[in-house]
Amino acid sequence: MNENCSQGQLTLGCHLSISKGFLKMAQTAVSIDANTFQFFTRNPRGGAAKAVNQQDIDAFAAYCAEQGIHQVLAHAPYTLNAASANEQVRAFAFEVLADDLRRMEHTPHQMYNFHPGGNSQQSIAESIEQVAEVLNTVLSPGQTTMVLLETMAGKGSEVGASFDDLAQVIARVELESHLGVCLDTCHVWDAGYDIVNNLDGVLEEFDSSIGLGRLRAIHLNDSLNERGSHKDRHAKIGEGKIGFEALARITNHPMLRHLPFYLETPNELPGYADEISRLRARYLQ
Ligand code: FE
Ligand code: FE
Ligand code: ZN
Repeated sequence: MNENCSQGQLTLGCHLSISKGFLKMAQTAVSIDANTFQFFTRNPRGGAAKAVNQQDIDAFAAYCAEQGIHQVLAHAPYTLNAASANEQVRAFAFEVLADDLRRMEHTPHQMYNFHPGGNSQQSIAESIEQVAEVLNTVLSPGQTTMVLLETMAGKGSEVGASFDDLAQVIARVELESHLGVCLDTCHVWDAGYDIVNNLDGVLEEFDSSIGLGRLRAIHLNDSLNERGSHKDRHAKIGEGKIGFEALARITNHPMLRHLPFYLETPNELPGYADEISRLRARYLQ
């Protein structure tokens, strides 16, 4: 996805289930006026991934070309923790990331997002080293997938509650050209960044810490909690403490408007369709 191919139109979608395959997800997206979507590569709590179905992938690619879906975002399971104190959990992170990145190459040039992780038995600095170690093991020079580190709310001792955490991970990764960042509006708000009253200031901070060129996707969520609460409870668009106006300003911001936006709000399809239609109506051409 580049600025030219999305010019004049908002790239917006929501989280969908992969259970019926890629083509079904793309068709579902189109049915609610989405032109991108996010999906879990496997059960969000972990477990085996579905076998790769080449026929489904070919039909998906043809349908996306026809419908103008240029890029989608995969999400790693929540149980993946590259900095866990538990050796088995950490081994699972190495395995799942490597396996998911191999599978992602069946749908080349897409994006893959994961939560960096962390644990309370060590410092953030130690966790940062471990996340970087995992990335240095699983990234490969020939991959076409862009791997995104997600900004986090700062529950417990997770890496990613500050832009600087993510900058430090990226600085330690050899194949850093395969790395980007996914900014989650609920998470950064809960982490303390004032995207309601000082969006420009937050983006300046992102730029000086990580570099805005790394920002590849936005999770567009309202938050149930006050800024700085470190809670991570998503709300429907306009029903939380961030509010519809601030979120619409984010989709329209000159530095952000070309990015793909993904709703992870507590909704079924009709709720997503409604949020998509309200946000599209507020997108300035
Ligand atoms: Fe996430
Ligand atoms: Fe998110
Ligand atoms: Zn969240």
